[in-house]
Amino acid sequence: MSTAKADLRSALEARFGDALALETWSGPGGRSLPLAAPIGDEAWSELLRFARAERVRVLPVGLGSKLELGLVDQVELLASTRSDTDVIDYEPGDGTLTARAGARLGRLAQHIRVGGHRLTPTVPEPERTTLGGALAAGQDGFDRLRYGPIRHQLLGLRMALADGTIVKSGGKLVKNVTGYDVHRLLAGSLGTLAVIVEASLRLYPLPETHVLVRASSGSTNDALTTSRALLALPIRPVAVVARNTGGSGWTIEVVLEGRDDVVTWELARVREVLPVCTTEGGRHDLGAPHLRAMSALERRSGSWPPLTIRTRPSRLADALVIVEGACLAASLRPEIATHPGLALAWVWFGDELPAELGLRLDRELRADGHALRWRGPQRPPGGQDPLRPDVPAPARRTMFNLERALDPDGVFPGLRLDDAP
Ligand SMILES: Cc1cc2nc3c(=O)[nH]c(=O)nc-3n(C[C@H](O)[C@H](O)[C@H](O)COP(=O)(O)OP(=O)(O)OC[C@H]3O[C@@H](n4cnc5c(N)ncnc54)[C@H](O)[C@@H]3O)c2cc1C
Repeated sequence: MSTAKADLRSALEARFGDALALETWSGPGGRSLPLAAPIGDEAWSELLRFARAERVRVLPVGLGSKLELGLVDQVELLASTRSDTDVIDYEPGDGTLTARAGARLGRLAQHIRVGGHRLTPTVPEPERTTLGGALAAGQDGFDRLRYGPIRHQLLGLRMALADGTIVKSGGKLVKNVTGYDVHRLLAGSLGTLAVIVEASLRLYPLPETHVLVRASSGSTNDALTTSRALLALPIRPVAVVARNTGGSGWTIEVVLEGRDDVVTWELARVREVLPVCTTEGGRHDLGAPHLRAMSALERRSGSWPPLTIRTRPSRLADALVIVEGACLAASLRPEIATHPGLALAWVWFGDELPAELGLRLDRELRADGHALRWRGPQRPPGGQDPLRPDVPAPARRTMFNLERALDPDGVFPGLRLDDAP
């Protein structure tokens, strides 16, 4: 072990003085690690050159809300973008924004609002989400049906490679990309390929009108049939969500936004499918409190759903039959929220998920061909590693080869060598 690695904090202080604003990160199980917060390209380069020379493994992070994913177990040092937060460029005429990776999505949204723009994804905690973290986590938000994940908004970025070189891919304009979009590789890379230090996003005009339409539905089948009818309309909703409200039937929610006349027309189409409904919101409802409230519903008491199911739209009903059947047999009434257009479902089980039920759900859903992600303490014993949920072997081989090509010395964490396909 290198001397620097044996006493990393002292080595970092000796080399960088106060420039890294060193802190200590404390994690589960009493684990603690030094956390550095470089500002600017040069500081990121130097830190990575140091890490490579001293064989110190580094995890780039934002504010650390996703560290339970497990990569932190592989590293000796956390390097956070939390202090590297400047807005570099906002071009209202082009509808583009460039900012340093530590900028919080909430602050960026405020910054561009004056120019009549909005940012997507709509995440529940924008003040606690960094631009780089959202990109590296491949984040999507409540508006995923219309806008997709953040990768779709990414025009270009600057990244610090494992040897400290700063490179740029893409640009700041909506239509300037030629060649391979290397920057899109970084979306969802979870800190395994490079540090995102700056990124440019495409923006959208602030809508004139927001409307949330809400209607009740009886059974799971009714809710899914109605959702399909809504999704077949010639409209572009921001969200179509079917929610099982704890055993008392289903609620369907449709969010529309855009130009006043377009939303009025779309609302009329929605009413053809949902003749009995309530509406909230309206013109210039710019604060859109009902949207924030709905977006917050994607979390329960500070934590995200223990079970996420992704499947094909035509198979969503089959997945829900398994969940409801197994829970009914155990006298448990789960709360379920689905985005039927995206074949995505979240399940909350309340305080206790009996271990046998977790195992049964895991087994039956998987055997029926659905992709699962368990998170938090309710993950059943033996449930798969959340880092690699059902990634097929060819894709894992590609991921592994990419890691090796971009980070041959293993400065960043990644697929463990003994797991390599
Ligand atoms: C309490 C809480 C719980 C949440 N739970 C969920 C959830 O269950 N599901 C969900 O989708 N969202 C969840 N979110 C939102 C989500 O965690 C964040 O929107 C997103 O992960 C970004 O957060 P962050 O900026 O703190 O990044 P972090 O959580 O620090 O990082 C996210 C990932 O990206 C990597 N990374 C971060 N910055 C960089 C960078 N500059 N370059 C390269 N890699 C980088 C990290 O290594 C990590 O793998 C939660 C947020 C909070 C506050």
